[in-house]
Amino acid sequence: MPFTQHNGLRYYQFDSLRVRHAVFTRHGGVSPAPWKSLNLGGTVGDETERVRANRLLSFETLDCRPDSMFDVWQVHGAEAVCASAPRRADEPYRKADIILTDLPGVTLFMRFADCVPLLFHDPKKEVIAIAHAGWMGTILDVAGITVRTMREQYHCDPSDIIACIGPSIGPDHYEVGEDVITQVKQTFGAASATMLPHHGDSVHFDLWRANHHLLERAGVTQIEHSGICTACHTDDWFSHRAEKGKTGRFGALLSLC
Ligand SMILES: [Zn+2]
Repeated sequence: MPFTQHNGLRYYQFDSLRVRHAVFTRHGGVSPAPWKSLNLGGTVGDETERVRANRLLSFETLDCRPDSMFDVWQVHGAEAVCASAPRRADEPYRKADIILTDLPGVTLFMRFADCVPLLFHDPKKEVIAIAHAGWMGTILDVAGITVRTMREQYHCDPSDIIACIGPSIGPDHYEVGEDVITQVKQTFGAASATMLPHHGDSVHFDLWRANHHLLERAGVTQIEHSGICTACHTDDWFSHRAEKGKTGRFGALLSLC
């Protein structure tokens, strides 16, 4: 079963990922509306103390030490950071959208609300990574850069890597404008045709298909999709688009221990 209920929290896990991990739904936290309730985003107007309490609950539920966390300031870019230690509480955030580690004492942690969570594990080299790919990160090939960094920094073979595409805004809900359409066409060429389905007069961007394409292009063959659209299921997930920006961020964590 992909969903587990524990400690009042409800989280999603991928069948193919054999490491400690979770993509947390919004259930079981302490924040009131519009962040109800497990908001893990510190920049969405919620109180710092509640976000901290929610983060502790999340780590506790997965039996992860809160001081093992490594997180970054996510900026819709394609910078990768290899974590060689947890981030100390007094250490400033690095700006990045890809984080990796081969250390069991480091828990990778990121925040989402429609953008695509990409979770990676190479069980041969024991390397994990998590990445944040909205439309900009997808255009910038965050997926491919993650795989390249796993190869270059940790000597991973792409055919060993398991990649998972988490809950995010689905092709049914993600209408885009001319600026995005143009960039998708420029980036993906002929392959863009299936990534830009028409819904009546509007055009949507299929982030799942685009990221699948990028992973395959990078040599990854083991790819699992959650197939969950955040905008379809705001009962479970925060959705920036469906909730018109007044919402929280759900968390995803990944650890080798
Ligand atoms: Zn949807």
